[in-house]
Amino acid sequence: MKSAKTDYHIHPNYSLDASPTPIRDYCCRALELGLVEICFTTHLELDPMRKEIDNFVILNGQKVSVLNPYWLDSYFSEITQAQKEFSSANLHIKAGIEVGYSLGTERDIEKIIDNYPFDYVLGAIHCLNHVAISSYKESPLYFQRRSLAEMSRDYFSTLKEAVVTGLFDCIAHVDLYRRYGTRFYGPEILMAHRGIIEPILKEMARRGMGLEINTSSSRRGLKEFHPSEDIIALAAKLGIEVFTVGSDAHTLDQLGDYIAEALHLLARFNLCNHIFTRRQAVPLSRAMGNGWDEHKARGFTLGGAHSRDGMQFVNE
Ligand SMILES: [Zn+2]
Ligand SMILES: [Zn+2]
Repeated sequence: MKSAKTDYHIHPNYSLDASPTPIRDYCCRALELGLVEICFTTHLELDPMRKEIDNFVILNGQKVSVLNPYWLDSYFSEITQAQKEFSSANLHIKAGIEVGYSLGTERDIEKIIDNYPFDYVLGAIHCLNHVAISSYKESPLYFQRRSLAEMSRDYFSTLKEAVVTGLFDCIAHVDLYRRYGTRFYGPEILMAHRGIIEPILKEMARRGMGLEINTSSSRRGLKEFHPSEDIIALAAKLGIEVFTVGSDAHTLDQLGDYIAEALHLLARFNLCNHIFTRRQAVPLSRAMGNGWDEHKARGFTLGGAHSRDGMQFVNE
């Protein structure tokens, strides 16, 4: 049987590095592609050392600080609008965020995720030593100066910190260092997680956290998705049960990319694709089997339901 498709990693026009495609256009395209549920995951980068580089979102074509709450009001209002518009078409739309974790930013992250009704908070490690290893341009600054063992220690110690903050529902592209690190370290990079990721995966399992299958690697010519099958097998063995699939679309044509293949991979490992509602994971098959009851119960309460009471955003 063909599995129903979701895409839980989408960057609409609020992200600095995304094309200027609005939320509604992604929803229309999702319908064409036959996706049953999508989740928007705008970037949130808060490392004060990178304040002038990436602590921004785009609001109405202008760069604004991620700490400026107006963009979140606008983001949620657009998503709510889309939820209303596409409900009769049976496309479920979720509000998520992809937080680039760096040490010391916990309180700023909390202020944002606790004050808005996010369905899904995706944690990611994009930077090591304040350098974006997720960037083709920047990453050599980091990789050239570190051995594979040093890189692996840096990456996984940051990941461990991210996991134990308890702030995240799921971890994105957990071996992201493969994206641009392979050309510096060669095929050995595929084993960089061995002996260091296991306790982290165990802790994620204990906390009921999810692991994302991110298909963006296929667009970049890597053989395996993020994470590699070796990591997926370890995660399954160590008790992680919650998995999501995401294309990491930054342009409209990337929406839904390789999702069918990612679902096939999950099925091969006997693992279930999950969706999130207000930060609670449910296997997609169960949600659909129940006639999407939890969605119905939730209604369309997003608009106006969130409150900024008690928020102490720094307006810049
Ligand atoms: Zn990412
Ligand atoms: Zn992303």
